[in-house]
Amino acid sequence: HAPRSLLAPAALYGDERRNSVGFDLNDEETLARIRAARDLPIPDAMPQTVSPPTGAMQDVLNPATGAAIAQVMMVDAETAARAIDDARTWDVPAAERARILRRAADLYEADFGRIFAVLGREAGKSLGDAVAELREAVDFLRYYAAEGEASPQAPRGVVGAISPWNFPLAIFTGQIAAALMAGNAVIAKPAEATPVIAMLGVQLLHQAGVPNTALQLLPGRGSVVGTALTSDPRIAGVVFTGSTATAQTISRTMAEHLHPGTPLIAETGGLNAMIVDSTALPEQAVRDVVASSFRSAGQRCSALRCLYVQEDIAPHLIEMIKGAMDELVLGDPWALQTDVGPVIDPKAQKDIADYIAANGKRVIHKLDAPAQGWFIPPTLLKVRGIADLEREIFGPVLHVATFKGDELGKVISDINARGFGLTFGLHTRIDSRVQEVTDAIHVGNIYVNRNQIGAVVGSQPFGGEGLSGTGPKAGGPRYVPRFFAPGEPSAIG
Ligand code: NAD
Repeated sequence: HAPRSLLAPAALYGDERRNSVGFDLNDEETLARIRAARDLPIPDAMPQTVSPPTGAMQDVLNPATGAAIAQVMMVDAETAARAIDDARTWDVPAAERARILRRAADLYEADFGRIFAVLGREAGKSLGDAVAELREAVDFLRYYAAEGEASPQAPRGVVGAISPWNFPLAIFTGQIAAALMAGNAVIAKPAEATPVIAMLGVQLLHQAGVPNTALQLLPGRGSVVGTALTSDPRIAGVVFTGSTATAQTISRTMAEHLHPGTPLIAETGGLNAMIVDSTALPEQAVRDVVASSFRSAGQRCSALRCLYVQEDIAPHLIEMIKGAMDELVLGDPWALQTDVGPVIDPKAQKDIADYIAANGKRVIHKLDAPAQGWFIPPTLLKVRGIADLEREIFGPVLHVATFKGDELGKVISDINARGFGLTFGLHTRIDSRVQEVTDAIHVGNIYVNRNQIGAVVGSQPFGGEGLSGTGPKAGGPRYVPRFFAPGEPSAIG
């Protein structure tokens, strides 16, 4: 019984439904295969590198239990410099690169068991989130293969790719796939918390045929390897996803050390809002609010942080949200009934718990969290508006504000004034309002009468403006071209 393909290539781009199909978790046989993967040995060897790496060993911890699942070398700055020495652009025809990236997509799909096991144990991903993450990674490989093959140009050179822990396979793979597809050499630095899934991804990419000189992996600290990759003048471009503060640090480092004009593609954080007006369907709005705020324990850049509810329906809607929150199950990410898993590490747990404690007077609803593992209870805070949110809290914390019917314009200008611009949600049944609000709001991705997470590669290019990112949008047609050298199309590739 072969696993059902996660998706068919190319032809299905544009079909949003495939984001919710793929593995049928109601099928007993599929479930048995996935459960069996839970105990598979996880990779403990670095993928083949050109120069032998040096550094210090570090434990990788399971956020749901606190137990060490692996030891990985965090490499030093000398290793990063040697990796840049060894890097060679991927000088084969674009069609060959595309063939190899598609082969990597097939290998990713075939290895779903180990991938789910590592995503669960290293990143605390629920099974449903792990399925969605694998699908997104595979989508990126196939989509960028198709995009880059269509109009090949010359590469820039050596690209540094720096990624976050919250999509440690999908974002990690997307950055690499786009830069590679343009023929660049890529040196990838995964987040400190999630080196093992990165090792597995790079092993599969090498196995598919990506040369070791074209793709190297450097697990390590941001302050060490990240700095090395953003300050070496041989670096021709940096692609980064992570917090706004880190993007600002990288931008300064690059300005100081790299050639002017070296591109930085940065996709960063958000303070994402949703407006629910009094014409919205309450049941639908509540379902979408809860999914947008608490799925993945709120650890999505797209997650809803500040909900605005029109005053006339607010008491009723907020009661319904509280009721829906009470239904959420926290716990073992691999139990099928689990809705909310742990946050990534003890530092994140403390940071979010301290924030909730400091805002204790604003808390209007809060669940209980399991004692073991790094959990944060989903929490609802009452605020006056988005200006009360000092920063992005990267966890299951939702702020709620109310507005009067004649204050919609002010709400929108407050959201815009906050400076972030990643996702925005609107629930309304007034057609003209959809147009009016979407014209006025300054964000990258707008979602109307649905949840505001889980953009689909190829059909919903994803990325923000303002403090949320530089563009181009990932999973869209402008992304791969940013990795080509500027100028006229060349014969290379
Ligand atoms: P982070 O900024 O702490 O780390 C991201 C990466 O940058 C890591 O690999 C880290 O080691 C590295 N880094 C840290 N300091 C560095 C330095 N000085 N130089 C170079 N690299 C350095 O972010 P995180 O905690 O891993 O991820 C969560 C953040 O990412 C949230 O803010 C979230 O909103 C954002 N995010 C954005 C998107 C998007 O598409 N816009 C997607 C996912 C996550």
